[in-house]
Amino acid sequence: MRRPVVAGNWKMNLLQSEAEDLVKQLIDQKELTRNVDIVLAPPFTALAIVRKLVHGSGIQLAGQNIYFESNGAWTGEISAAMLRDSGCKYVILGHSERRSYFHEDDVLINKKIKAALNDELHVIFCVGETLEQREQNETREIVESQLKFGLEGLATSDLEKLIIAYEPVWAIGTGKNATPEQAQEVHHFIRAFLETTFGKSTAESIRIQYGGSVNQGNSKSLMAQKDIDGALVGSASLNAESFIGIINSTA
Ligand code: PEP
Repeated sequence: MRRPVVAGNWKMNLLQSEAEDLVKQLIDQKELTRNVDIVLAPPFTALAIVRKLVHGSGIQLAGQNIYFESNGAWTGEISAAMLRDSGCKYVILGHSERRSYFHEDDVLINKKIKAALNDELHVIFCVGETLEQREQNETREIVESQLKFGLEGLATSDLEKLIIAYEPVWAIGTGKNATPEQAQEVHHFIRAFLETTFGKSTAESIRIQYGGSVNQGNSKSLMAQKDIDGALVGSASLNAESFIGIINSTA
């Protein structure tokens, strides 16, 4: 039985005082983490305050990015060890905004994944096709190649620290989510790829989140799908009521 995991990707949003307000509302809900793992990915500047607030609540922290080098002259970058040192258990890698706006390719993402695992960080690894690729019937090909190159060189045991997030690019921040059937089809495909590459027990135990305009209204039917084990939530994670609604529908 896979335990569901809901992560809130705050992106470049929320000042420390705003982060504090939001997290206080979340931790007021005492039973929130009973049946679901909850991960918050604040901007780096809010990690310290959020870390303090979530202490003892069961809520885990994620960073939104790392560089693959461990230290040195890389102005503006942050290492896996620095995220660990700031209280993070996870890092989000391969997000489509990093791929498109910051030109991160599969080779760079693979280096980052290895650096994260090397420093004991767990990884939320995002994959997904653009609208054009879906319309050209290339979804499987694209997702397979992102998985193949992103996970290249990883040992089966590394997969224990991995969550895959299927995030169709056309659904991110657009208000246009994949239907439960569309999402399930790709999640099933991802699990089949993992089975072929890493074996049946790894494929059965790995959690695959759906991300892309998840909200309180659509989360229940998405989360009811056999191969969907949680959500990676952007905009709706910035509002306590909607994020709690998504968590409850997942549980
Ligand atoms: C995301 O950025 O990972 C995301 C899923 O965003 P949104 O929920 O806003 O579509």
